[in-house]
Amino acid sequence: MTGESAPQLGAAPPPAAARLRDVASSPVREILALTQRPGVISFAGGLPAPELFDAPGLRAAFAHALADDRFGHTLQYSTTEGDPSLRAAIAARLGRRGLPTAADDVLVTSGSQQALTLIAAVLIEPGDTVLVEEPSYLAALQCFQMAGARCVPVPCDDDGLDPDALAALIRRESPKLLYTVPTFHNPTGRTLTLERRRALAQAAARLGLWIVEDDPYGELRYRGEPIPPVAALPGAEDRTIALSTLSKVLVPGLRIGWLRAPQALRRALVVAKQAADLHTSTIDQAAAARWLATCDLDAHIAGLRAVYAPRRDALLDGLPDALPEGSRWTRPDGGMFVWARLPDGWDAEELLKRALDREVAFVPGWPFFPSVPDRATLRLSFTSHTEAEIATGLDRLRQAAFDSRR
Ligand code: PMP
Repeated sequence: MTGESAPQLGAAPPPAAARLRDVASSPVREILALTQRPGVISFAGGLPAPELFDAPGLRAAFAHALADDRFGHTLQYSTTEGDPSLRAAIAARLGRRGLPTAADDVLVTSGSQQALTLIAAVLIEPGDTVLVEEPSYLAALQCFQMAGARCVPVPCDDDGLDPDALAALIRRESPKLLYTVPTFHNPTGRTLTLERRRALAQAAARLGLWIVEDDPYGELRYRGEPIPPVAALPGAEDRTIALSTLSKVLVPGLRIGWLRAPQALRRALVVAKQAADLHTSTIDQAAAARWLATCDLDAHIAGLRAVYAPRRDALLDGLPDALPEGSRWTRPDGGMFVWARLPDGWDAEELLKRALDREVAFVPGWPFFPSVPDRATLRLSFTSHTEAEIATGLDRLRQAAFDSRR
């Protein structure tokens, strides 16, 4: 010991990697923090209604998974691909929804968000182009941007993405892939028509496009008949990665999602998942598999629909009085979201400030735009409040819009 103290090193961390520099933290998450204040009626988060969670069923499923003769299996490290009985249950369900699937086609992921991360890790080189709907799911944009992709918007209307504009963009941009949420889209609630799905699948085959079809909301339909997934349509079958999740139909806290990928890609996706987390939680997978084997997911979803449909109606019925005259909005057949546009000159983020003063919240639409944001847009979720609360929330929104005019 010389008595000299070690030189004081600055506490500044190394600079963040270049791929992170242009990726903003999700403003939606930041807004969600504000909206969790007690008393706020929030149309902001895409949250399933917690009173509909099947806590007793999940408690029994976890108890079974932890029973003495099973815990050596359910608390142990496991394979990256996922719990065999869960993969089989997911494959069977996809088959019943019109997408014939073998258990081996399924990779269980830690939420479908991880599926997006894995796809980006496996397929995206810095500088690649990814086509996305305009607007698009924010955390998918983050994933692709973090992998160095340029996200190029495809124009959309009320029937989803425009197939002619898409074909022109494929020719011009030679994209690595198209990312789409064709059913009850986040953030707009729109659904791609069957005719356009067919056109998309054919364009994909003709022009060599790969498709990532993200479908967390498709089973939450309140009106009309189910439409086949893009992945099942001629031309798209062998060039689509399909993803979904238990988050919206069971509980998001389980973090159980999956992807269904053509065989040629599966190995690389498994390697990417090994590097990410070795495997999804074994105990959570075992409980999910047990729940699916012993409870009736169709009946559970029917219960969700019966509650969400009148909430959707309450929001749509109340919007004409709540938003300033000249506003427009979507009328989704399912899912969780309505997308609105205020009249020209309005800024939804400014309205949000007034709205928070009045204890009501929503998400401004600008972060969902991959390039040029439309600041007059906003997203409203209708799932996590009763009709009475929705009516109160809309009345507060009407007052906030009035405050904004003064
Ligand atoms: N894709 C879309 C379109 C979503 O809206 C969400 C959740 N908001 C996800 C993926 C991720 O969901 P999870 O990770 O819970 O499966």
